[in-house]
Amino acid sequence: MWRRNGFSLINQIYYYHNVKCRVEMFDKDIIMLQVGASMMDPDHFLMIVLSRFELFHIFSSADCRKRLREASKDLVQQNNTLIEEMLHLIIMVVGERYVSGVGQVEPFDEVRREIIHQLSIKPMAHSELVKALPENGNKETGLERVIDSVASFKKPGVTGRGLYELQSDWQKHFNLYFHHYSRADQSKAEEAQRKLRRQRGEDTALPPPLPPPLSPLFSSLVNLLQSDLMLALQGAVLLWAGEPSGGGWTEAILQRVLHLVGLALLEEQQQLETRGEEDVSFRYSCKITRPGEAPSPSGSVLALLESLQNAPHLEVHKDMITWILKMVANVKTMRERSSCSSTVTVRPGQGLEETLHDRDQLERKRKAEMARLRREKIMAQMSEMQKHFINENKDLFLEASGSTAESSPPRSDPPCVSQVCLGPRRSGAALRRQLVTCILCQEEQEVRGQGRAMVLAAFVQRSTVLSKNRRRSLPEPVHYDPLFMHPDLSLGTHTASCGHIMHANCWQRYFEAVQVKEQRRQQRLRGHTSYDVEHGEFLCPLCECLSNTVIPLLPHTHSPDLSVDHPSLETWLKTTNQQIAALCSAHRKQSGVEGAEPEVPEGFRVDFTPQNPFSSSISEMITTFNMSIYKVSLKLNPNEQDPRVPVLSWATCAYTIQSIERLLMDEDKPLFGSLPCRQDDCLSSLTRFSSSCWTAAPPTTAHTHFIRLFTALVPDSQVEDSLCVLDIDMFHLLVYSVMSYSSIHCLDQSEHRTVDSAHLHLLHLVTVAHLVQILLTSITEEVCMDQDSEGSEEEELTCQLYNTLRKHLGSVLPELPSGCQLSRCVRLGVLPFLRASALFFHYLNSTAPPTELLVIGPGQWEALCSFLSLPCNLLQLQEHTLLETLIHRWCVHPGVRQALQGGGGMVRFPRESNRLIELPEDYSTLINQASSFLCPRSGGDKSRAPTLCLVCGCMLCSQSYCCQTEVGGEDVGACTAHTFTCGAGLGLFLRVRESQVLFVAGKTKGCFYPPPYLDDYGETDQGLKRGNPLHLCAERYRKIERLWRQHGVAEVIGHAQEANQTLVAIDWQHL
Ligand SMILES: [Zn+2]
Ligand SMILES: [Zn+2]
Ligand SMILES: [Zn+2]
Ligand SMILES: [Zn+2]
Repeated sequence: MWRRNGFSLINQIYYYHNVKCRVEMFDKDIIMLQVGASMMDPDHFLMIVLSRFELFHIFSSADCRKRLREASKDLVQQNNTLIEEMLHLIIMVVGERYVSGVGQVEPFDEVRREIIHQLSIKPMAHSELVKALPENGNKETGLERVIDSVASFKKPGVTGRGLYELQSDWQKHFNLYFHHYSRADQSKAEEAQRKLRRQRGEDTALPPPLPPPLSPLFSSLVNLLQSDLMLALQGAVLLWAGEPSGGGWTEAILQRVLHLVGLALLEEQQQLETRGEEDVSFRYSCKITRPGEAPSPSGSVLALLESLQNAPHLEVHKDMITWILKMVANVKTMRERSSCSSTVTVRPGQGLEETLHDRDQLERKRKAEMARLRREKIMAQMSEMQKHFINENKDLFLEASGSTAESSPPRSDPPCVSQVCLGPRRSGAALRRQLVTCILCQEEQEVRGQGRAMVLAAFVQRSTVLSKNRRRSLPEPVHYDPLFMHPDLSLGTHTASCGHIMHANCWQRYFEAVQVKEQRRQQRLRGHTSYDVEHGEFLCPLCECLSNTVIPLLPHTHSPDLSVDHPSLETWLKTTNQQIAALCSAHRKQSGVEGAEPEVPEGFRVDFTPQNPFSSSISEMITTFNMSIYKVSLKLNPNEQDPRVPVLSWATCAYTIQSIERLLMDEDKPLFGSLPCRQDDCLSSLTRFSSSCWTAAPPTTAHTHFIRLFTALVPDSQVEDSLCVLDIDMFHLLVYSVMSYSSIHCLDQSEHRTVDSAHLHLLHLVTVAHLVQILLTSITEEVCMDQDSEGSEEEELTCQLYNTLRKHLGSVLPELPSGCQLSRCVRLGVLPFLRASALFFHYLNSTAPPTELLVIGPGQWEALCSFLSLPCNLLQLQEHTLLETLIHRWCVHPGVRQALQGGGGMVRFPRESNRLIELPEDYSTLINQASSFLCPRSGGDKSRAPTLCLVCGCMLCSQSYCCQTEVGGEDVGACTAHTFTCGAGLGLFLRVRESQVLFVAGKTKGCFYPPPYLDDYGETDQGLKRGNPLHLCAERYRKIERLWRQHGVAEVIGHAQEANQTLVAIDWQHL
């Protein structure tokens, strides 16, 4: 019962002080008190105050106070609070003069003072300031007229809002006992102001500001400050302050008294300055030198202050007391001067001030010196400990440096040869031991094929970020054949990681615990969490990054065997063809079909079963990751027997590399060295994983894949259903064939195992195929500016190849453009492929990148080609006679002619990077657009929540029954339905009426994100409540775009939902 009354009282107090009501209540009450005080004898007024606060007896006799202190602690505390309140009230009655009529001020000053005090708490945004000011009948605060005179505007960065900061010359107007501060505001402001002063190296005293003069009617108000009772109160408190605080007084009481003393001195100084000695009846400085009467007979207020100045328990107030003593000295000299020569009023005397100041400075210096010495001592200790540690572990340090020296094999070729990342000349990976630490048990572990499995938390998601064709419908999961990626890259699987490493079994234990916890939670409460345990989702135990699987860490590949000869392309093609024939016949035999025994190359054993290079725990993790990719890519239940398993793992590797290559290109970053560590770790473990992922599947699976890939690249004239060269993304083809080749290679038990040569030959073949692809699709008939330049070898060869193609295909190809134009097109078109390949082989073979590619600058092309072991003039590759027949076979495929004649949907190279749609500069354009948008389903009705897809620009009728559709057996809103066609389950929208960006992932997850539109004060207006004109902030929009292109939206949603549980409860699927 009491509490309920208590709450109602708290509510009343809240509204009494609230911005909206205080003008009529609190402010008016203060004025009433001021009216009363100005018309009464000051001692009488103070007496009434004392008795209303029931504090008279405390100040009346020391005995009474003593008795009280012995009575009960609660009572003492209660009394202290009352004293604080009373002193505060007196401060307000005397000091609050910013109402025209009471003080000599304009309404302008009133608003300005309000703003100064709000900004003294912290820099504020426009909307916060508006909220803190009372509005008049026209909903105006007067803020606009004043703000620029006291504050400077700080532009918002990419995050955050535009903020107003108080200019430093207005800081002296800060009043700690500003009547509109709540207790919390007051302490925040006090802290902020002290900090500011410390930063500027000033003392931390917060003296009252100079108050404006009172209007004549209220001029007697100041007498409160010098009334006898006031002096007695001050004397009593200062006397208490001399004793160490045992609860008998509080710092707040002392601070208020000091404030009152300061206020009085300021008043006297001001009067002396304006009127001259004779007219000034305010003689506070004289009165405080008088010894106190009962009940504090000990000494004058001034003497008490002087004795307190160096009291050790009052360190905090020292600066304030010093300031007061300085003021007293000032006022005294002013009085003396004006009495001897009334004409000259000199500004305060400097003598005492300076000595005080100097003493202060000396003290500060001494303290700084001591701190410096202490720091030096600690540093010395630390370096001593370090030395000691090195001495103790000398062997370890020697070992570490020794092992790297030993492991790099003696190199026969000269060291000046630049880095090469593949082929027989490739620079071997420095055989560094890979030591990693588990974030869960903190144990160190070396990454070895036969060791304990270590895993990297990862997040796999479907992606359409690179898609060049959003109209292509999602593949039917059961019959989808992922072996050949279409160049439009309409759907891929992206893998990202936060880079945190765990033991596989530590992670399993952690994940099981998460599952159990989630089950228990679901029994108690319904609803979703920010992560979906049923889909294997969890939060990284260290950084809480959304993850849904783990990537096993695998050891580096070995250095190349330099003793083996590099077979020529013919030899290699011949051997590979023979190997394939042998495999095919073996497969046929298995299925019971007899055929002619083909010639088997020497040492090639079809029935050889290679030893699994991995320990059981690593193999298990390989399967785990394989299955996660399978589940996400196909949305099917895991099936380890599905032959598509390894293909999907290769696909995510290729797609992730491609998307990162695009990001680096568009952000003008160098190809190597600019990726954050976590992405670097992710790509390197992902690449090494996918080169080994086939070991978890039956060996024939990988064989079959390689055979199909190889025949697509080197078409067999006998096989009819080969694929059109225009329908294959060449980088995917390269990655798949390099990965699957390992399965063929390990059957070769002969002496000349040539895996590196094979990689190089594969790269050459695919590059030529890509060149042909580019020449077929991407040549436009624009005019080249520098036609008269002498044709280089590269241009000649390009023309030659183009002519060959025209010979095969005739008029479907445009007329021969100039050589320079052709070769420029080709270079531009093939560059993304080369860059992606360089990344791929760099991570596959752990080769250090060449220094030229660590920076942006000239010579990139040459460095890239030599890193990939390609000639700078790529066209030299096709001069091989063998390739002529290949090119012929690619061109005669009926699909090529069809595609060229069909025009339309052909993908041109280089593929342009996808961006979010262009948004208008002025938000009202969007509002107009949305208001004329009609619901497409309900025949001409206006849409309630028009929502714009930022990926494709489609306007949708969101959050409405009229446009719900069924996806996977559930009714979903237009936005969610759209994400499944446009973004493979992920969408970015702008809710136009709300001015809000909406992120949606799947059916259950979503969050709101600040829109890229800001008003002139640098603030967003979510919900369009403020109604200021809004303009596009390009940087913020780019930030959203980058988030999307980095595949970071799902993570943002996860973090938002973790931080704000109410987001979890929203039915996102109905938006
Ligand atoms: Zn562990
Ligand atoms: Zn993490
Ligand atoms: Zn869309
Ligand atoms: Zn509708």
